[in-house]
Parts: sequence; structure tokens; C-alpha cells
Amino acid sequence: MSLNELTLSDARDKLRAKEITATELTEACLSAIDAGNGALKAYLVVTADRALEQAKRSDELLSGKGKQARPLEGIPLGIKDLFCTDGVRTTAGSHILGTFEPPYESTVTQNLWDAGAVMLGKLNMDEFAMGSSTETSYYGQTVNPWRAKGSDENLVPGGSSGGSSAAVAAGLCMAATASDTGGSIRQPAAFTGTVGIKPTYGRCSRYGMVAFASSLDQAGPITRSIKDAALMLQAMASYDLKDSTSVDRPLPDLEKALTQKFKGLKIGVPKEYRVEGMSKEIDALWEKGIDIFRQAGAEIVDISLPHTHAALPAYYIVAPAEASSNLARYDGVRYGLRADGRDIVDMYEETRSHGFGAEVKRRILIGTYVLSAGYYDAYYLKAQKVRSLIKRDFDDAFDTVDVVLTPTTPTPAFGLGSKKDADPVEMYLNDIFTVTVNMAGLPGLSVPGGLSGEGLPLGLQIIGKPFDEATVLRAGQVIEDAVGRMPVPEPWWAGEAGKPEAKAKKKAGATESAPEKKATRKK
Ligand code: GLN
Repeated sequence: MSLNELTLSDARDKLRAKEITATELTEACLSAIDAGNGALKAYLVVTADRALEQAKRSDELLSGKGKQARPLEGIPLGIKDLFCTDGVRTTAGSHILGTFEPPYESTVTQNLWDAGAVMLGKLNMDEFAMGSSTETSYYGQTVNPWRAKGSDENLVPGGSSGGSSAAVAAGLCMAATASDTGGSIRQPAAFTGTVGIKPTYGRCSRYGMVAFASSLDQAGPITRSIKDAALMLQAMASYDLKDSTSVDRPLPDLEKALTQKFKGLKIGVPKEYRVEGMSKEIDALWEKGIDIFRQAGAEIVDISLPHTHAALPAYYIVAPAEASSNLARYDGVRYGLRADGRDIVDMYEETRSHGFGAEVKRRILIGTYVLSAGYYDAYYLKAQKVRSLIKRDFDDAFDTVDVVLTPTTPTPAFGLGSKKDADPVEMYLNDIFTVTVNMAGLPGLSVPGGLSGEGLPLGLQIIGKPFDEATVLRAGQVIEDAVGRMPVPEPWWAGEAGKPEAKAKKKAGATESAPEKKATRKK
């Protein structure tokens, strides 16, 4: 196994034991990016010089007795392109932010650098995190490293954190940051055989994270194992005065929590998640999960979450409403792209019409509509009430159970472009099992549960009580122990589609892999 395919925890242990160096590990990841990014298109920017500099510093701290080594010392990571990184281009997958280089660092990424991690570069995503396939990115489509048995059709890596999930699954980094507004950590994790956890709302600071829907957005990691997810979340989470919704609650030692007692835990199985049209495979996967928990000594309890059916419609009111407000700041004055205009209003309009893609415009229109006078009560206020009911359903369920088990997605990964002409709602249905968790602000994990008949990964979702990530991860470990970790698939992508961009030349800087089209004004 090459170094870049190790789990983060194994790499950490080998670094500490001086079996490998941070420079070797970083070079292994950079070579994997060189060989694979041309075909997979996971990275938008590779910060190779900066990575090697950080790795060198880590090697200094790891040498001697390794006493100064920090928790993630020398671990190379990929960063979803909506975390602002000081001096390194941050686009959130949008043309409108195209040339934006933030003058500050997001709290989550700062926490990771403070923990000794190394930055490899920025990862592709759906534009402003709106999507479930990473196909709405302005900068091209990321490809899932997994393919169905005997097929060479390219599949989506999920979304919006598809760059993160593809990079982690293919070994182009040891782990990645991601974010989840309605499922964007868990669904891509399910599609790529990786682990993804969306922590409780408020666990990770949103400072410096490009906002989509502020009351739902939450950062979290995508990793190759449950233990790696615990280690990453431990480093990413913090109470932050720069984010008034971040919560001052101590986070227990998550790695330790993985070995705590599991027997006797109560697992809720909600009947409302048996949705119409769900494939037999997904049903069988769910049964398998239930069985694994039962074998491990848990008690299975049938529960009801009666407002589940209303979650997706309510989400598609709340999220666009907040998005339409958050995206008002992109006006051609403060960030990135500016198109020419006859006067200032014309300039705003031209910038926004050229800078936003179709899905983002759809959300802005919906959001503006549901917030407008006359419709506010009928839609927005009603959706907020539904949100409270969804939260109450979970509160009631957690009176009797410790965690809830569901599938993560209704299907495995689908073909790139296969939903291009479909009703947008078909794409929205990907998140039918995940949005409830964001609406209620709860922690949710996706862990690989097995393979579909076609040999594609499928994910199981574990939902926990507020701030009880420890039990969620503990339960996830039980699934992982029974099913095993998903391997890095056969690297069909290696050497395909030419080499990616050259490594960064600017000091601590970045190289773009994506063509930056100039905004042109249509007359
Ligand atoms: N797919 C959902 C959406 O498009 C969720 C995206 C997310 O979690 N960022 O809104």
C-alpha cells in the first residue's frame, strides 16, 4: 500500500514512530494528485510548495522525541473550496468568486494548521454548495473513483463536497474538510465508500466558511475510517467568538470514545424512512445494519418520526430563503468577478447574471419569492414551523433511543450527466434521508455499509442526540468493524487524461487548474 492510502490514524502512528516522514507522506499525496487529478478533477488548486514547507516544519517537530508534535502533525489534507484560506484562491465553485483570495483564514482550517496539518490544496464542490453531484461547479465536474463492475461509465462523487469525497476515496489526501447544509458531507461519503460526519450545529465555527444557508451549514470531515473522522473532528471543532452560533460545549476525547461500551445501547429505526421507490438493495443494507447492531448487543427499537415527509419541502424553502439573503453580497464590488455596466445598477445585474450558475439563480429566485411580502407567512413561516415539528419528533425519539439508524441515500452513485435533463426535484430527492438532520441541528454520520449488486459503495446513516458525536462515532465503529473499511478502488484514473496543472510556483501560493473565463457583456 502506498503511503497516501494509509488511514490518517496509521499515518499519524508511523510518523510518531519515525517509520515515515511528513515530507514523504506529503510527496506521496502530491504524486497521487499528479497522477489522478487530470481524470478525477478533485482539486481546483494545488498548493504544493506550501505543503512541502509545512511538512518540513512538521518533520522538525516530529524529530527528537516527537514531544512537540501536535495532534495532526504532518498530515496532508484537502480543503473544500468554501473554507477561506489566507492568500489562497477560494471560489466556492462559483464564477462570481473566481479570483477571490481571502485576506483571512477560516477558523476550522486555522484549527487544523494549529494542530499541525499540511494543506495540499482546495477541492471542487457544487456552486455555493448547492447540489448533490458536484456538477453545478463552474470549474468542471469531479469524477467518482468508483465505477460499477465491468463498466467504464463515469459516476458522480456526490455533492456538494464531491471534490472532498473523491480525493479521500482515491488517496489524493489523507482526509478532507467538507460542509453539510442538507447532506453534503454524508451523501458524497456514501457515494464514495468514505466516512463523513456532520456534527451538531454549532460544534464547528462557521467563521470564514462561505455561507449558503447559515442556520443549516455545518463543517465536518470526510475520511477513510471512523477513527480518522474522530481525529479530524476533534481538531476542527471549537468554540469561536467570531461565530455567534458556535456553542461552548466541551468535546470529549472522540478517539477514546470509540472503544467505550456499546452493549445495551438503544437503536431507533424510524418507519417513515421506508420511502416509496426505495431500492431493495437499500432496504437490505438497512436490515444488515440493524443486524450488525443487534449482534453487537444493542437493543433495536421501532420509532416514528412523523414529520419526515415534510422535511425536504420545508428545507427547499428555508435553504433558498437564507441563500438569497447570503448571496446578496456578491455584487461585483467586494469580491472576485465584476462585469462592465452602463451604470452601477447595470454593473450589479451583469455581474450577477454572468457570475451565478443556473442552480444558484433558481435558489435565489425561490428564496426571494418565499421571503416576499404576502408569501412570507404562507411559505417561510410555515416551513419554520415544520422545522420545529421535525426537531420535536427527534426530541421525542431520543427520550427512548440513543441513536437512530437509517440508510444515507436512496440509491448508489449515479452517472455523470444522467440527471441533466431531469426535473431538479429528482436531484433534491438525494437528500431525503439527510436533510431532516440539518433541520433539527443534530449530528449525523455516514459509514460504508457494503456494496451494491453493481459493486458500488452504500452508506448507513447514524443520527445522534445534540452534541453526542461520541456515541454516533462509537456506533459507526461497530458498523466499520463488522463491514470493514472500503479499499481505494483500482486506480483506472492513474495517468489518464494527462497531467494536471503544474505544482504551485508562487510562495505559499496556488496554481489554478480551472480555466478562468472573463465575464463578457452580452449586448
Ligand atoms: N443537496 C442539498 C442542496 O442542494 C444539500 C447541499 C448541502 O448540504 N450543501 O441544497
